[in-house]
Amino acid sequence: APTVGVLALQGNVAEHLDALQACGADARPVRRPAELDAVDGLVLPGGESTTLSKLLVAFDLLEPLRARLAAGLPAFGSCAGMILLAREAIDARPDQHQLGALDVVVRRNAFGRQVQSFETDLTVTGVRGGPVRGVFIRAPWVESVGRGVDVLARIPSSTGGPASGKVVAVRQGPVMATAFHPEQTGDARLHDLFVARVRESVAAAR
Ligand code: GLN
Repeated sequence: APTVGVLALQGNVAEHLDALQACGADARPVRRPAELDAVDGLVLPGGESTTLSKLLVAFDLLEPLRARLAAGLPAFGSCAGMILLAREAIDARPDQHQLGALDVVVRRNAFGRQVQSFETDLTVTGVRGGPVRGVFIRAPWVESVGRGVDVLARIPSSTGGPASGKVVAVRQGPVMATAFHPEQTGDARLHDLFVARVRESVAAAR
C-alpha cells in the first residue's frame, strides 16, 4: 500500500487519516522532516493558513516540503491546505508562506461573512456516482488558474450571487486541492482519487 501522510500540525487530521486508510493507504501523521521523507503522498488539511504557515517553519518542514513538492510529491490540499499550495493568496497575511505547487491564485475567506460556512452539491470531474457534498468553512475560492491546471469543480451557477461559477477544486499534475472539506462527509471518493494518483506516482518511480 502507498504511504500517505497527513500534515499534522493543525486541523482535521484524524478524519483524513481514516478516509485514507479506508482507501487502502498506509496513512500516517507527519510532523517531522523524517516523517515527510517517508511518505509517497501528503494531505494538507484545513485549519488556518497563517498559523499553518508559521507551524511549517517552526517544525522545520517548510523547505523540505517545498523540495519534495518540486520533485513531484503528490499532494492534496483542502481549504487552508489549498491556500498554502497556491502560488499566490489574495487577502493572506503578507508574511504567509506559499508552497507554490499549484499555479493558481486563491482568494482567502472569499465567500464573505454572510456565508462563512455552507454546503452545496458539486459535480467533480473524475468522481463518479453522483455529486459530492461540498462543506465550505470560511473557505477560499480560486480566482484564476494558470495553464496546466485542470478545473475539477465550480460552485453551481444556479447558486447566483458573486460565488456563482467560482472554481473550488483544481488539479495540476500530481497536486490537487479543494476549497471544501472532503473529510467532513464520510464520502471518501476524493481521497480515493488522490490515493490512485499516489499509486500511479509510486509505480512510475519504480
Ligand atoms: N479561512 C482559513 C484560512 O484562511 C481556512 C479555513 C479552513 O481551512 N477551514 O486559512
